[in-house]
Amino acid sequence: MTEKIYLDYAATTPVDPRVLDAMLPYFTQDFGNPSSVHRYGQKAEGALDEARATVAQALNAAMGEIIFTSCGTESNNLAIRGAALAVRERTDANRILCSRVEHTAVTRTLEQLEKYYGFEAVWLDVDETGMVTPEAVAAAIDEKTALVTVMYANNEIGTINPIAEIAAVCKEKGVLFHTDALQAAGYFPMDVEALGVDLMSLGSHKFYGPKGVGVLYVRKGTELVPHQTGGGQENGLRAGTQNVPYIVGFAEALRLTTEEREVRAAHIKPLRDRIIGTVLEEIPDAKLTGHPASRLPNHASFAFKGVDGNTLVQLLDGAGFACSSGSACKTGNPEPSGVMKAIGLVHIWGLGSLRVTLGAHSTPEEVDAFLTVLPDLVEKARGLNRR
Ligand SMILES: *Cc1c(COP(=O)(O)O)cnc(C)c1O
Repeated sequence: MTEKIYLDYAATTPVDPRVLDAMLPYFTQDFGNPSSVHRYGQKAEGALDEARATVAQALNAAMGEIIFTSCGTESNNLAIRGAALAVRERTDANRILCSRVEHTAVTRTLEQLEKYYGFEAVWLDVDETGMVTPEAVAAAIDEKTALVTVMYANNEIGTINPIAEIAAVCKEKGVLFHTDALQAAGYFPMDVEALGVDLMSLGSHKFYGPKGVGVLYVRKGTELVPHQTGGGQENGLRAGTQNVPYIVGFAEALRLTTEEREVRAAHIKPLRDRIIGTVLEEIPDAKLTGHPASRLPNHASFAFKGVDGNTLVQLLDGAGFACSSGSACKTGNPEPSGVMKAIGLVHIWGLGSLRVTLGAHSTPEEVDAFLTVLPDLVEKARGLNRR
């Protein structure tokens, strides 16, 4: 089989040609440093300002609240480490509340803050759909809580959290709230006033922009300790000459997403539902992971009993289909992922996770082809696991 079908849009997406077109001039003729005084610098600064205005508008924020970073991971690092250090300096609070299903960009940052900086991570349990409830957050906040961080939508199992309600709880208790919105941004409005978040991370390669560029929204008045020091770029929070072409690409990708996200979701959701329906109907010992309704419109994820997810992903790749098991960063690890454990899947189920995520270029034909081969490959993976 020579066909190659991409079903891993939660890992990354291709750059939209319109986004690439917007970026290209800033590599060559308009290459100036936005901090330079001369007209090369002014041209680059103009592009940077325009990009910042576009992002601010899409988020219903002010330009001064938009910090460009090198990726979603960096945005999470800056938000969490920066806020934790700044709050503790002011109040002595040293606890960070965090759900058990966060991306490693969040969990490893918390682990480091515990090990080297004397913070205490408090892990919030999720329900069996992977959801964090506002009640659980309210119950866990105490006078020592410096920050709460809960992701908007889960990358592994697609569950969407009630972010506005969680933000309201944090606000009422006077605690800062950060959300990792990397997966959600492609499909849901990112209005920071409606959401009520203090800090929000975005990355454009999840919505048809380039990799290697991110945004951190920082609500006015929120203090952060910068984790990269140097020049005064990005309000002094993220030193280093800005990556102008990528920032322009980020802004264009977000602008297009804001215009097109409903159309994109309407295209993808029936395909996702076909995958979920067919898998649960035709494959024995299969479970949907994540929430059945409150989930990303492009996201189908399963656990197959007695299957090694990595084996299944390799078999699928051999047949021409690109999917993933758990998050892309974890392949090769024989333990069920932290997310599988957090939603209560024991070993025999938890190892057999499969994530199928659709995107703008997905077609009904691709989905049909996938559903034709999947049942046999699951059986084959089960057979290999028994040997
Ligand atoms: C992709 C992703 C990240 C990491 O973003 P990068 O830009 O790849 O660093 C963080 N959190 C979630 C939920 C993601 O999906």
